[in-house]
Amino acid sequence: MALITREEVEVLRAERIEELKRLKGEGKKVVGYFCQYVPVELIFAAGAIPVRLARGDYFSSVRGERFLRPDACPFCKSCLGKFETDPLYRLTDALVFVNTCDMMRRLPEAVSANIKIPIFQLYLPRTAEPFPNRVQGFERQIMLLKAWLTGLTGAEVKEERVLTAITQYNSLRQAISQIDEGRALVPPRVKGSEIFGLALLAWLLEPQKASRVLLRHSSTPTSTSNYSAPRVLLAGSILTEEERDLIELIEEGADIVADVVCTGARFFAGSVELQGNPFTSLAHFYFNRIPCAYRRPNDLLYDKLKQLILERAVQGIIYKTLLYCDPWRFEAKFLRQNLGLPVLEIDGDYSQTNREQLRTRIEAFVEMLK
Ligand code: SF4
Repeated sequence: MALITREEVEVLRAERIEELKRLKGEGKKVVGYFCQYVPVELIFAAGAIPVRLARGDYFSSVRGERFLRPDACPFCKSCLGKFETDPLYRLTDALVFVNTCDMMRRLPEAVSANIKIPIFQLYLPRTAEPFPNRVQGFERQIMLLKAWLTGLTGAEVKEERVLTAITQYNSLRQAISQIDEGRALVPPRVKGSEIFGLALLAWLLEPQKASRVLLRHSSTPTSTSNYSAPRVLLAGSILTEEERDLIELIEEGADIVADVVCTGARFFAGSVELQGNPFTSLAHFYFNRIPCAYRRPNDLLYDKLKQLILERAVQGIIYKTLLYCDPWRFEAKFLRQNLGLPVLEIDGDYSQTNREQLRTRIEAFVEMLK
């Protein structure tokens, strides 16, 4: 039996959308965000409802071309297209952006010009060494976000509320990490697609509700693969919720035993320190997350990759990038040089037209790993 099916995820999404409509009717604000660097705890502590907008498909990307040029990042184009069609996006009252890759730095301008809802842009230093002045600078950004949230909701963001939010989100991250350990086993007890499904619930649902759902599912007997399926690691640009198709395509022949994707394991890795000033703790936690490819230096990303390859007996890497996503596409060369494992590079714009060609490439790669 599967840990969590796509159908179950869709039922929970539909219920959540109805719940958000009701909460908005009661005066609550829904705050959307896109990136793993947004401190959701702060949004939650301000009495607003954080939801990650991590959806993306070909049709919404084409729609987005009315606002962004055609050779822009398909995820960013898709974000704009989704504001016209996706009920979750249409429920948002405000958005928080982070100045990550170049396209993500530009997206807020396009949103301001065309969607016209309040936005906040969080400045995270691109240089990732945690020098005190850099982390302090980021903490000042967090305090600006705090003030903006107070303006949005009318509620003061008190330290006790932030601590409660940190505790709840820490529990949620720990719960998924624990289930994720099942991927390390031989054969794995949990599928990569199921882990991506659980991560999705963590950013869609209220944290305590998400923890309850996880608890229920973690006691479900899981399907196991056979011993002979090659063990692969998934890396690359953001994978959208709709790309579960691709993940399941890979799983037809291989086990995805690990990943370093920001909508997968990078999203639920680590815990925020509970001792001391909670705003300082948030600044340290988000500053030091396993870095996205746009940050430099990104040694921590390679340390994590090497650790996962050893601990989870990874045989090959499937590296999925988005068309025009320069940070991750440039990184492919270094990844090949540094990790010494076979790598299959897949590039795409969410189009489904090359699906069979992709299937053939994945099958050939998996065959080579056997
Ligand atoms: S790929 Fe990088 S910049 Fe884009 S959403 Fe993920 S962490 Fe943020």
